[in-house]
Amino acid sequence: MDSRPGETYRFCRMCDIVRDIPSDIGEYADRLYAALDEDERADEELIKRRLSVCEGCDRNSLGTCLACGCYCLIRSFARSQRCPKKKW
Ligand code: SF4
Repeated sequence: MDSRPGETYRFCRMCDIVRDIPSDIGEYADRLYAALDEDERADEELIKRRLSVCEGCDRNSLGTCLACGCYCLIRSFARSQRCPKKKW
């Protein structure tokens, strides 16, 4: 990045986070799910139920929850997670 004299370098924290996410979100999601303790993992039925609520939610923007900024899929993985709008 070019900077002019007297300017300080600034960076976007979100770009920093996104850079570490592989382009294959499915593989990334699989890794995150596998990293959870087994008793913390939501089962397939619970994940499907949660995602069907997200699917019809006005806060869902292409799979990202606008209420919390998480991917809906990834938020649904952990049993202890809750919808920020208390829909699930
Ligand atoms: S997590 Fe809750 S608020 Fe976010 S998209 Fe899903 S249902 Fe909507």
